Amino acid sequence: MRIAIGQLWQETNTFNPLPTTRRDFEAFGVLRGAELVAQMADVNELGGFIQSLRRWPEQPEIVGLVRLPAWPGGAATHETFEWLRDELVGALRAQPPVDAVLLALHGALTAVGAPDVEGPILEAVRQIVGPAVPIVATLDLHCNITRQMVQNANVLVPFHTVPHIDVVETGERGAAVLHRILCEGARPVRAFQKVPMVVPAEWANTQDPASISSTFRKQIEQLETHPKVLSAGLATVQPWLDIPELGSAVVIATDNDPELAKRECARLAAQLWEQRRDYMGDLMPVEAAVHEAFRDQAGGLVVLGDGADSTNSGSTGDSTCILRELVKYEWPRPALVSLVSPEVVAEATRLGIGAQRTGPLGGVRAPRFSQPIVLTTEVVRFFDARFVLSGHLGKNLRCDLGPSVVLRHGNVHMVVTSRPGPHFAPKMFEEAGLRPFEASVLVAKSPCGFRAAYQEKAKRIIVVQSTGCAPADFWRYDYREIPRPLWPWDEIETWAPGPTLA
Ligand SMILES: [Zn+2]
Repeated sequence: MRIAIGQLWQETNTFNPLPTTRRDFEAFGVLRGAELVAQMADVNELGGFIQSLRRWPEQPEIVGLVRLPAWPGGAATHETFEWLRDELVGALRAQPPVDAVLLALHGALTAVGAPDVEGPILEAVRQIVGPAVPIVATLDLHCNITRQMVQNANVLVPFHTVPHIDVVETGERGAAVLHRILCEGARPVRAFQKVPMVVPAEWANTQDPASISSTFRKQIEQLETHPKVLSAGLATVQPWLDIPELGSAVVIATDNDPELAKRECARLAAQLWEQRRDYMGDLMPVEAAVHEAFRDQAGGLVVLGDGADSTNSGSTGDSTCILRELVKYEWPRPALVSLVSPEVVAEATRLGIGAQRTGPLGGVRAPRFSQPIVLTTEVVRFFDARFVLSGHLGKNLRCDLGPSVVLRHGNVHMVVTSRPGPHFAPKMFEEAGLRPFEASVLVAKSPCGFRAAYQEKAKRIIVVQSTGCAPADFWRYDYREIPRPLWPWDEIETWAPGPTLA
């Protein structure tokens, strides 16, 4: 028995004007063949696949196709889309026939001329393996599930959690579903329903029992204990995608029980629609948030969640919105904030340690959302922002944000990296020689996932109304391609689900 595994991972944000290219994937770490299997054996969904397959009594041969990851960012160029497709399809074509395909996808990757990247790639994979070979694909909870994806994969298996702390477990669930199909005779049918709604990422927190997301997580997990259910997925898409099929979705796969799939799909979709307003919440204006942080910082860390400039959500990571307020205060302990700016890193490198730099900072990568701030800073430290991420988004995931520098203005410490990455991670600040949990205030560029790292240790968390490519009030911005009506852009009087079967 031969099972092919591969990964295609990037979350696209079409408000980010910087295109994602082949170089971004290569910088993150493309792996092929046996090297993929060796290096990803304990990392993320691929690690979940590999560990599970190695435990199967059938002892299948694990065929590494290709791992294609890039950090969230702007839409991929069309050439990049063609390269991604050719890499994955080429790797599969180069193999003798396989018995199944397990893919770790994000599900919200968009390219110029290909608003849905995963759909056409799944279709190309299906054309190679034919109708009888099972294809199981895992997805992020913020994926945009399309009809083409549902039609070409036998089962789609999204994350259950936000923050995404079940990345490896989702890989294991994907492998377990595949085992039921391949070795236990399950015959997957799935019911699919798009729900005409998009919600902010800030309040969808499955760690908070009061959050609407934990209600759905419990139901999904309960449903997956049903002997006939192969997978239950409820995907509240990430909002910053101006594409024709944008919308939330429910997809339920059962073992040859179309009625059960349809019934549960319709029930969850109706409930999601009815409770859509429960995903909305208030954010604190930036001036008030920084003032609150200053007032409240004695005896503990205040974390400011900067969702709008979340690099995890594909924003550029160089918004100066919160920094502008931070520098107005004399912080008793360090104030920590990050910026993405290869230009500033290069300039600081020329100036050297201890130099004073007066000049613009940030606000250049997405000028529509942020402007540079002119500040005098001291060049404090150079470092390579390389670390292993475990927690939200990753387990043993190697991240490399490139050559980096720490700049200081008063007690405000700016970690400036060359590339975007998990700009919420305590490890990033630690690599910079800073102590995140001893700071007065820390800006985490993330709408919700940062909570996994800080909820237990921070004195207070404030979610800030900031500016960037991933605003929480996205519906106030111009979208041209999205389907209408779509809530909350439009009020929709009545809507009822009518799931379709595949
Ligand atoms: Zn996500």
